[in-house]
Amino acid sequence: MRTHNLGYPRIGSRRELKVACENYWAGKISIAELLYAGKQVRQENWKLQQEAGIDLIPTHDFSYYDQVLDTSLMLGNIPPRFLPLVQEEKKSFPTLYFAMARGYQKGTMDITALEMTKWFDTNYHYLVPEFYKNQTFGFVCTDVVAEFVEARQQRINAKPVILGPVSYLLLGKEKETGFDRISLLKTLLPVYADILNSLQKAGAIYVQLDEPCLALDLEEPAKQAFREAYHYFGRECSAIKILLATYFGELGENLPLACSLPVDTLHVDLARAPEQLDDVLAQIPDAMSLSLGVVDGRNIWKNDYAKSLSAINKAVKAVGDERIWIAPSCSLLHSPCDLDLETNEDVLPGKVKRWMSFARQKLNEVVDLSKLSASRPDKETENLLVANRQVQQSRISSVLIHDLSVQARVAAIQDKDLERGLPFCERKKLQAAILNLPLLPTTSIGSFPQTKDVREARAKFKKGTISEKDYTEAIQKFTREAIEVQEEIGLDVLVHGEFERNDMVEYFGEQMNGFAFTQNGWVQSYGSRCVKPPVIYGDVSRPASMTAEWIIYAQSLTSKPVKGMLTGPVTILQWSFVRNDQPRSATALQIALAIRDEVADLEQSGVKIIQVDEPAIREGLPLRKAGWAEYLEWAVKAFRLSVSSAQPQTQVHTHMCYSEFNDIITSIAAMDADVITIETSRSQMELLDAFINFKYPNDIGPGVYDIHSPRVPSVTEIENLLQKAMTLIPAGQLWVNPDCGLKTRNWDETVQSLKNMVQAARNLRSGE
Ligand code: GLN
Ligand code: ZN
Repeated sequence: MRTHNLGYPRIGSRRELKVACENYWAGKISIAELLYAGKQVRQENWKLQQEAGIDLIPTHDFSYYDQVLDTSLMLGNIPPRFLPLVQEEKKSFPTLYFAMARGYQKGTMDITALEMTKWFDTNYHYLVPEFYKNQTFGFVCTDVVAEFVEARQQRINAKPVILGPVSYLLLGKEKETGFDRISLLKTLLPVYADILNSLQKAGAIYVQLDEPCLALDLEEPAKQAFREAYHYFGRECSAIKILLATYFGELGENLPLACSLPVDTLHVDLARAPEQLDDVLAQIPDAMSLSLGVVDGRNIWKNDYAKSLSAINKAVKAVGDERIWIAPSCSLLHSPCDLDLETNEDVLPGKVKRWMSFARQKLNEVVDLSKLSASRPDKETENLLVANRQVQQSRISSVLIHDLSVQARVAAIQDKDLERGLPFCERKKLQAAILNLPLLPTTSIGSFPQTKDVREARAKFKKGTISEKDYTEAIQKFTREAIEVQEEIGLDVLVHGEFERNDMVEYFGEQMNGFAFTQNGWVQSYGSRCVKPPVIYGDVSRPASMTAEWIIYAQSLTSKPVKGMLTGPVTILQWSFVRNDQPRSATALQIALAIRDEVADLEQSGVKIIQVDEPAIREGLPLRKAGWAEYLEWAVKAFRLSVSSAQPQTQVHTHMCYSEFNDIITSIAAMDADVITIETSRSQMELLDAFINFKYPNDIGPGVYDIHSPRVPSVTEIENLLQKAMTLIPAGQLWVNPDCGLKTRNWDETVQSLKNMVQAARNLRSGE
């Protein structure tokens, strides 16, 4: 039996890589310094995996921005609009690399970034590969070999990790019509073979090819592509052993396909899909080894050793221990780095911490499990099992977790609690009379630039170095400035700016029961952006008002309406580490009741517009269509429960971003928000295709510019997008807003962009 790992967090346990990247972008450090910081993180990761006793350690799981972007560069897949950067300025990495990630604006050059989207159902975002009809590929960026060699020099037993060719194609998008990206497989395979053979020549025995798409519903051409690709490797790269990694779900009807491929080892996710083990054991061919992903790479609970061992023992019995590998379920990219760094009892109480495990601890779990499944474990090893059993027991019976009043409230939810008093058309009239907004009203999504001053004020207050009074005054000052700027820009519906919020989920979690936090539990979201998800460990409730004070203050400064700003129940659920001892839907309803209390509070304070953000609603969708209906039903229910107590004259907004919504547009409509603002501009309003056949009933603001990039959109560009929108959505239903919150931008970009946006709306209004 052997242990291995599929990938390790690359941000560094103290976010060293984030800091280095951002300093580099700001011109504060050189490229050499950035590369050095990356190398440090990489080598430290290898070392600690080695010290934990992991047999095979991943390389090339490291990235300065995103592993899919790295794959595109490795394969020489550089979209034509970036070629001037390669040719004229002879700039490859890092200018080209970061331009593809973040866009490029300098002199006359103005190049948009690659589109970004969710990595399966995680909160990680990847850069979408672009494909063109006569596309060619080549082994261009050879970091994969360099990193392997680097690891070997450190005496690391390295296993390079590469995104497999079929998933790479499936995860991308055609940028021209008249062809299917799968047809590029033939051109792509020789390049992959070149890479695999180069690795083998450099000394690699194993290579891990990630094919997470095997956990999706696949059409026949995609299945055929898998056969073609892996049989090709079987012929052309027979000297290197392939570990085919699947994760994030069950193989399901793709299991026979996976088992038919000529690979050395198949990795399956037994955290997400433990029930697939029997079928896998029944179908796996004799020549194939099996990697059991028993340690959950996506949640923070301690592994239940007894449960994992029963799976491992079953597998060993079926195929013999030489063919069994033990591993986390997926890359540990989705776990925070190290629980040992959590030392503050006020943030993460020891009573909760003892139930948890982060990436570093998960490595130990993998090793423990392999020791425990040895035929005759020694006494010390057996104690590991006893200790683990005690931890599991203490969780089941803990009074920290169970709140009977919350459970009773959930049980009493009725259908009428999910309905607004009047239908949308009636509500719209009442709201119009109160709000008096122009055609094409302009607004923003909520947050304004989180400058150094803003972050410092919060940090000082948290540390106790400034008083509550000084803190409140500081936040009020930021809010006042934000209101002034918005009035000057000429926006119609204002926001308070969210300066008091570190994060849209953490801010709420900190004020609710049932949540715990971490000091260093960062997980990469995209590029240098990291999130620190709260831990929902018990029944959720809201003891006191969470937001009213700030909104009331902001509203007192202006005669324009200021939106109350809340995070929705599905997003809070989705962006937290959630309990694994009850269904997600049960936790969602508890959170919804807490948000419902907050909505009532805001209304009572005279707030006329309340926005309940649900950017994460789509990412919660099960990967396979068969599970969609059930999920959407409880997700929509949770949202409606959170807002439906609002009076008809209160305008409820929601906001969504980061992914494609076309396929769930009817559920979005069923949420019945009066206004939805939604990301679309990075994909040039592809969202609008959904409105060709579906008449969206309520008001909608498709984002008119991308806030993930520092680029300032022109007035004409925004007007064009709005005009495009108006061909499908009547102007009377249309709002004008950016794609998402502006917290990551600076004020200059923000003001210029919003001014252009307001100007575009004004031009169109007067043209009516
Ligand atoms: N209101 C939040 C903000 O503006 C929404 C963020 C999001 O959609 N991710 O930051
Ligand atoms: Zn957003």
